Amino acid sequence: MGLPGHRRTSGDKRRRAAQHGLDAVNPAICPKCDKATHPHRACAFCGTYRGRQVVDVAKRAARTVRKTKKK
Ligand SMILES: [Zn+2]
Repeated sequence: MGLPGHRRTSGDKRRRAAQHGLDAVNPAICPKCDKATHPHRACAFCGTYRGRQVVDVAKRAARTVRKTKKK
């Protein structure tokens, strides 16, 4: 079975771990409702993407209510 050729120093570990952090999300502003949303995704508040209605927000809210009631 393979064994590590050298001991990994604390500095080695820190340098490797320095790449593991998550970047902060750069929010996009919805042109319709002016709320901060994820870029390249339909707005979670009004359901539009590039000025087009793509998600029926009322229907989705009703579904969420139904799902939470079941439990
Ligand atoms: Zn919106």
